[in-house]
Amino acid sequence: MAASSPAARVSPAALIAPVVVALAMALGACGGEDEAPAPAAAVTTPPPAEADLVAAGVDEGGLVPVLMYHEVTDTVAGDDRFSTTPERLAEDLERLHAAGYRPVPLSDLVDGRIDVPLGTTPVVITFDDGTPGQFRLLDDGSVDPRSAVGVLNAFADAHPDWPRRAVFYVNGAPFGQAGREAEKLRMLSEWGYEVGNHTLTHQNLATLSAPAARGEIARLTALVGELAPGVRLRHMALPFGGMPPTPAVARSGTAGGVTYRHDSVALVGAEPAPSPFARRFDPLRLPRIRAAARDDGPLELDEWLRRLDDEGLRFVSDGDPETVTVPADLVPRIRVRAGQTLRVLRGTAP
Ligand SMILES: [Zn+2]
Repeated sequence: MAASSPAARVSPAALIAPVVVALAMALGACGGEDEAPAPAAAVTTPPPAEADLVAAGVDEGGLVPVLMYHEVTDTVAGDDRFSTTPERLAEDLERLHAAGYRPVPLSDLVDGRIDVPLGTTPVVITFDDGTPGQFRLLDDGSVDPRSAVGVLNAFADAHPDWPRRAVFYVNGAPFGQAGREAEKLRMLSEWGYEVGNHTLTHQNLATLSAPAARGEIARLTALVGELAPGVRLRHMALPFGGMPPTPAVARSGTAGGVTYRHDSVALVGAEPAPSPFARRFDPLRLPRIRAAARDDGPLELDEWLRRLDDEGLRFVSDGDPETVTVPADLVPRIRVRAGQTLRVLRGTAP
């Protein structure tokens, strides 16, 4: 299956120039070797007017939900606050899409490169534990449509403005199905998903010595390296949310001759992440919101989607990854990265 169209990640304002360049290249290719390619037209798209940004509620200092899923299964026990069903996962995606959320790679959040259309809010989708219900292949090699990857792929295929994006934090024997682990890791990566480190045997790192914790992390790094050498693990999630007594151990280390280095460390539960442009954004303590079939508590998706709207907390994009646009009162709390421009909105939304 083809990966989602790259155009799906391009903001409307930025779309015009690549199309013109691609057209020029196509014309050049048809013209034969002797002809010079048609010159690419110089297209400059004026930035959106302040009034339009204010009307869209742009606020790139707002909060970004990072959703934490676990098992995806047909039957969820009443007291299970972590598992969900394929139907419920599809409903969550439908709801997020309708509410103007768009999925981004965790790497983009951490890098502060948010590329979603004007007026929309980035969301990061994560899955812990690398269970069979998250990614199951059928005997004919197709993806089980009732596994999480089946649901995500089908949703992206039906919604061109919703690319295939999620992080799968795996343990040893990723996704079960012995013998198919390497194939699955490669497929995920090819499709635009990310793979993260959830340690080899899922022990609580808060209870281990530093060398033992390093070993748990590095052995998973080594396993994925053997199974799928091209798949890089930039991110990790702490089993049970347990931070090692020396937190730097989660970020980087060497054990058994294997070195790992993570750009983010995800916690368990309980709230949205700060904007990547907020001074308080700490990718090494990345909070997440619980997403499960049982969705009736203060830490969970339903409650947080309501609060993000009711309390005006949402990150709302200006559609331009190079410019960070925030209301004037937020400026002291914002930090932009090298090469980015800060744009300050003086007006207020009606
Ligand atoms: Zn876990």
